[in-house]
Amino acid sequence: MTHSATIIGGSMAGLFAGNALRKKGWDISIHEKVPVPLSGRGAGIATYDELADLVFKSTGNNNVLGTSAKSRISLDQKGKIIASYNYPQVYTSWQYLFSILREKIDNKNYFMGDDCTEIHHGKEKVTAVFNNKKEKQSDLIIIANGIKSELRHYVDSTASPQYAGYVGWRGVVYEDQLSKKSLEMLSNYFIVVLPNNQQIAAYPIAGEGKDPFKIGNRRINWIWYKPANTKKLNTLLLGKSGQQFVDGIPPNEIRNEIVQDLFKEAENKLPPQLTELVLKTSQPLIQPIFDLESDKMLNKRVITIGDAAFTARPHIGMGVTKAALDAFTLSDYLQNDGYLEELINWETSRVESGKFLVNRSRLLGRYLSEPEKNETLVMPDVTDVLKDTAISLNDIKTNLNNINNSILNN
Ligand SMILES: Cc1cc2nc3c(=O)[nH]c(=O)nc-3n(C[C@H](O)[C@H](O)[C@H](O)COP(=O)(O)OP(=O)(O)OC[C@H]3O[C@@H](n4cnc5c(N)ncnc54)[C@H](O)[C@@H]3O)c2cc1C
Repeated sequence: MTHSATIIGGSMAGLFAGNALRKKGWDISIHEKVPVPLSGRGAGIATYDELADLVFKSTGNNNVLGTSAKSRISLDQKGKIIASYNYPQVYTSWQYLFSILREKIDNKNYFMGDDCTEIHHGKEKVTAVFNNKKEKQSDLIIIANGIKSELRHYVDSTASPQYAGYVGWRGVVYEDQLSKKSLEMLSNYFIVVLPNNQQIAAYPIAGEGKDPFKIGNRRINWIWYKPANTKKLNTLLLGKSGQQFVDGIPPNEIRNEIVQDLFKEAENKLPPQLTELVLKTSQPLIQPIFDLESDKMLNKRVITIGDAAFTARPHIGMGVTKAALDAFTLSDYLQNDGYLEELINWETSRVESGKFLVNRSRLLGRYLSEPEKNETLVMPDVTDVLKDTAISLNDIKTNLNNINNSILNN
């Protein structure tokens, strides 16, 4: 008998789940609320061997996933190298990864404009209800609809995103828009700089269109973390139209004076290569940073995966790999008929792993929120930041010393 799963959310976690279950012979359908093909999210994604392996297992894609930086460095304000760590790594773009995963899902199984609003448990089946009056009955529902999930409560009614006290300003610039001098550093290295109470990271990622990995066609991605208490956050999220946004702001609503302040700060605080990068970004984006932890990922026939279950801060660069692991480990449990009883073991191990990653990302970002009154800000050693940021799960196990040292020092 063929089993069926309805997957809510057509981004990374949804596509990994669709591909993993498809491989195990499940009948799947993916429902994405956005009515047009997802695109332009612009984020750079750090990859690891384990992610490349999971992409290969889902899609058969054996090609390198992105473009590489040969090692990691930090710069002083004049732009000279002051620290380095040898960690060659492949970086890709959200869009490139999406296209590889999406290609393997038949269009007849991927529905756009399907906004799931309700879930109903039956005895043998579960039903997803969509705002366009569509209903879909299946053996399982997999909720893969991201940190803002309004369906999470069907699995865990207590979990909700918590603001971390800082934002990431981010952007991308095409290599051919940058000066030769800045490119020497920006296209070859993963760069981290730590202005007081802040952090900026930059690295090359795939371009868009033809030959996305060719030097010159690639883009340089940057993210600049800056503390913002709730009052400051509200100021940043007050739109041009006068609308007060709450947990994110559409790019076209970001006020010009806020962007000008950012540019001024870049000129005062950053090395020249990063100043040029920030100033040449036509539309910087603001990403408030949130943590999300769940105690449960399973309620009978309904499951949460990816950012809908756990969202770690971007410092660990692990969201996509974690989503892929949620999906693949789940598909292993779904191979036999008695899967419903055994899923509890899947849940236990994924909750443990999710909590570990969220906690680790909190430790890496703890100095980026404003210190409490009476607390002295202790900045980490930049070499430890180079060693701990966006590393593979295998390296996390061996690198735990760096983060443990920072905990002791703080
Ligand atoms: C700045 C930044 C940098 C990052 N860097 C990295 C990195 O280097 N490496 C890495 O691995 N990860 C990184 N991440 C994290 C990674 O991008 C996320 O973890 C990942 O995209 C989560 O995928 P997801 O599918 O779970 O959720 P999402 O990508 O949020 O997708 C959820 C989807 O569900 C849809 N949806 C929502 N509600 C409904 C509904 N009711 N019905 C139907 N559809 C719905 C949404 O439209 C959306 O398409 C980064 C994140 C950020 C913000």
